[in-house]
Amino acid sequence: MTPTYRICLLPGDGIGPEITVEAVKALEAIGRRFGARFEFREALLGGAAIDATGTALPDETLAAARAADAVLLAAIGGPKWDSTDPDAPRPEQGLLGIRKGLGLYANLRPVRIFDALVGASTLKPEALAGVDMLIVRELTGGLYFGPRARERDVEGAGAGGVRGMRAYDTCVYTEFEVERIARKAFEAARARRGRVHSVDKANVLESSRLWREVVHRVHDAEYPDVELIDQLVDNTAMQLVRYPAQFDVVLTENMFGDILSDEASMLTGSLGMLASASLGDGTALYEPSHGSAPDIAGQGVANPLAMLLSVELMLRYSFAMHEAADALAGAIEAVLADGWRTRDIAGPDTLPQRTVGTSAMGDLVVERLEG
Ligand code: NAD
Repeated sequence: MTPTYRICLLPGDGIGPEITVEAVKALEAIGRRFGARFEFREALLGGAAIDATGTALPDETLAAARAADAVLLAAIGGPKWDSTDPDAPRPEQGLLGIRKGLGLYANLRPVRIFDALVGASTLKPEALAGVDMLIVRELTGGLYFGPRARERDVEGAGAGGVRGMRAYDTCVYTEFEVERIARKAFEAARARRGRVHSVDKANVLESSRLWREVVHRVHDAEYPDVELIDQLVDNTAMQLVRYPAQFDVVLTENMFGDILSDEASMLTGSLGMLASASLGDGTALYEPSHGSAPDIAGQGVANPLAMLLSVELMLRYSFAMHEAADALAGAIEAVLADGWRTRDIAGPDTLPQRTVGTSAMGDLVVERLEG
């Protein structure tokens, strides 16, 4: 029997609808080649939802997302909905709301350098050889969610004896939170090259010491076949630009992951090529790392490859269709190797006749999938 997968599509705003069309085209080609059926249900999110319903995350959207086998989100936001009125609905509320509503505690961001695009990075080509890593960031705990306050400093005195305000944020992690994100990282490593760097600041922070303890416990009990390396976050920041090919899976807490994933993403030199997966215990969500690019929306020039790489992650993590995921990644690689570029990744050596728009780039990938 042909397996059927229900996908909730959230095209959102700006270039979102244009790149969503390309994702559907690719999934249909994959369905034909690998004998699977994809059912699409489109729902409103972000600015488009505000225009239609007055809220960035309508109840029907969350219900549709929860009922699906996977969610594919393009991008939300744009100047139309920018407002200084604190009570005005904002597109980002849709994004945060759906992540929270689906309980997505693990953010996975692959950083892979396509040979054909090595020149797009600010790093020397020789430093980039073999870079293919996956950052696994804890998304719902730590400093961004712990107790915080701004209050009058009644005990201490500031410089010159003046009492002022003080503020604090607290980094809290429970064993449960560390265990579940560690498992995601070890599982991912098993499907890759079998190595996890667990990044912390255990020489200073108590929360990091608990992190390290729990990661080792999960490793020793359940994943002894995976290589585990502890690394302090300041060292990781340096190693990412010194010798990035040493990393396979990088497991880290929320704030360190926020910073390191932006640093690592720039190894590729191109926003239009980065995908992400957000996983919880239920339906997962896949989205490109870029925004809605309002400056080029509607022009048919957006790069659909980050969206297609998000589809690759969906095939892997939600549907376990690894062969199909490899075929999609291979098709993208082949298109780039043949010199085809959208405007954002075109270099000085790109032939003008090889610079294509959104739809033509999608067609080229589909052709190779079918070939
Ligand atoms: P952006 O990522 O939308 O665009 C930054 C630059 O990169 C622009 O010049 C844009 O044209 C280009 N770009 C981005 N994606 C591209 C693609 N696929 N192909 C070709 N060029 C691409 O970031 P921004 O301009 O800071 O934000 C625009 C809007 O997107 C804002 O409203 C912001 O809040 C929103 N945003 C949404 C998300 C999301 O949906 N996850 C993420 C970031 C920003």
